Amino acid sequence: MTDISVKDQIKKIVELQKIDGEIHNLKIELKEKPVLLAQMKEGFEFSKGVLTEVEEKLKAVQVTRKERELELKSKEDEIAKSNAQLSQIKTNKEYTAKISEIEHIKADKSVIEEKILISYDESDVVNAQIEEEKVKVGEEEKNYLAKKKQTEGDIKVIEGRIKVLDSQRKNATEGIDPSFLNRYERILKHKDGIAIVPIQGEDSCGGCFMNVTPQKINEIKMSQELVECEICSRILYLEGDF
Ligand SMILES: [Zn+2]
Repeated sequence: MTDISVKDQIKKIVELQKIDGEIHNLKIELKEKPVLLAQMKEGFEFSKGVLTEVEEKLKAVQVTRKERELELKSKEDEIAKSNAQLSQIKTNKEYTAKISEIEHIKADKSVIEEKILISYDESDVVNAQIEEEKVKVGEEEKNYLAKKKQTEGDIKVIEGRIKVLDSQRKNATEGIDPSFLNRYERILKHKDGIAIVPIQGEDSCGGCFMNVTPQKINEIKMSQELVECEICSRILYLEGDF
């Protein structure tokens, strides 16, 4: 037991709460910052994925064009071969048939040529998309890295502040009865970092804003025990008491 009056101990707990409230909020910030950064990274990775997709699309266009160029070459070979055969042909009928065959191959050839031309236009479009995505990825990467640096700095500042508060906290707990401190810390853990709250107005709990009975108000005024709110279980005090 400590020889400091309950009233003075409550006053100390109120001071302790200010420190613990700040520690609680800083710890939430410490948890949130990496999450925000991860979300930003996700966005950046997504854009990188889009860029890769567009680059693959360009590759596919190029591969198809290569195939068509080979096809075109084989049509040209066929035409050359058929043209060479023309001189060996004896009959008119065979000659006409050969000419018609050559015309067919030429028609096929021009279809392939057309497709190759279109594929160059496709490449231009996809190349423009690639350039656009590269700019986007570059900007996002720059923003992400800047944010990362800033967040890492912020985290260091927060961790430093928590260290300072932790040592202030040690001093602030001096003179508080260990059983009071235990109760306070248990509530702190379960009630979002707010364990002790003032009565608001005449008779409202400053934590859950529900009514506090006159009997409880009297108990608080007597300052012989830690009085808890019946609804939210936080410790209650009267601001005018100090
Ligand atoms: Zn309450």
